[in-house]
Amino acid sequence: MSAPSTGSPSGSDTRLAARPTIPGGDPFGTHRSVAPAGSLPQPAQRLDNDFSRLFAGELLLAVETLNIDAASFRQMEEGEGETDDQVIVGRVLGTIANRGKQHNPVTGSGGMLLGRVLQVEASHPDAATLRPGDRVASLVSLSLTPLRVDSVTAVRRPSAQMDVTGEAVLFASGAYARMPADMPERLALAVLDVAGAAPQVARLVKPNDRVLVLGGGGKSGILCAAEARRRGGPGAKVIAIESHAPYADDLRALGICDAVVTADARDPVAVRAATLAATGGVEVDVSFSCVNVPDAELAAILPVRDRGVAYFFAMSTSFTKAALGAEGVGKDVDLFVGNGYARGHADHTLAMMREMPAIRALFEKRYG
Ligand code: NAP
Repeated sequence: MSAPSTGSPSGSDTRLAARPTIPGGDPFGTHRSVAPAGSLPQPAQRLDNDFSRLFAGELLLAVETLNIDAASFRQMEEGEGETDDQVIVGRVLGTIANRGKQHNPVTGSGGMLLGRVLQVEASHPDAATLRPGDRVASLVSLSLTPLRVDSVTAVRRPSAQMDVTGEAVLFASGAYARMPADMPERLALAVLDVAGAAPQVARLVKPNDRVLVLGGGGKSGILCAAEARRRGGPGAKVIAIESHAPYADDLRALGICDAVVTADARDPVAVRAATLAATGGVEVDVSFSCVNVPDAELAAILPVRDRGVAYFFAMSTSFTKAALGAEGVGKDVDLFVGNGYARGHADHTLAMMREMPAIRALFEKRYG
């Protein structure tokens, strides 16, 4: 897309002025919740995104790029009406206007952002080291980040990224990463978006495990498959299901999977059959759901052995469908909610880009 779109016009005049700190402010950001007042910001319906003043512990950023969550972007693409770039832009700006944050009301998910430090309130935990101009990516969801967007200058659909001008605040408890100097920022932003995925694979996959990855050709899916190969070793079986044929081909070319099946993860019976065909009839030890669509819960459960693990990284996952679905098919499988945070997750995932040049090259082509 090229035509710039206008969001809120209010911010540009205040951008350069230092903002005063007013009383209030807690590390979790409850002071910015307008509805319900005083709630935690993620479940809040609406946040205060007036950045003409700051509260204790806040970090004010000039926002340059939004990396929209894949499930959210896909949902906005599939909504009613035309799905050209301007429609997506309109949906994002509408959400921010309504909620003071990019919190998709349908998927409940957000994304993260790239920006530069404008101001660090004195009681922020990193006030001694952060400097105006430092380039950072947020590692907490846009669904809890107060945000104002003044204009949208580009939309990059393959990476679900939008270049914008605007401002945002991170709370004292809000994780962020400094942008690395040794890789393109767009690449770093893309992988930091899914930084929680591979470290969880590293915790769960044991040598010689059988591992299933749904949506294996996508961004988090490739990282999960690569980490499963590394942890599982040559004796492991890594099987991926991917519906998008070109992405399935990309994954095959990386040579990290024993089988890459082009199939629909919303068909659990077909996924189970394909998985058993690849393992010689044995159920897998662990599965990871990395799709960006709903209704893939059972495909992550049905091929898993008794007392195995199904890990739901996908934000399109329904707790109800997973829990009742597992019960309904008599599967005594541990169901894990995909926590986006794991200690050291940003460093872990950026290191994968340095250690796995073929994946880095593919991601630079797709997202760089
Ligand atoms: P992505 O790059 O879009 O990958 C998703 C992949 O799944 C794509 O290749 C997609 O194909 C494929 N797919 C779609 N429908 C499918 C189906 N029916 N069967 C098989 N494959 C299918 O997304 P991502 O950035 O890796 O994110 C993956 C998931 O993780 C999303 O649900 C996202 O919300 C979630 N996420 C979670 C966290 C967390 O903290 N837990 C953080 C970030 C993201 P197409 O190219 O055709 O769409």
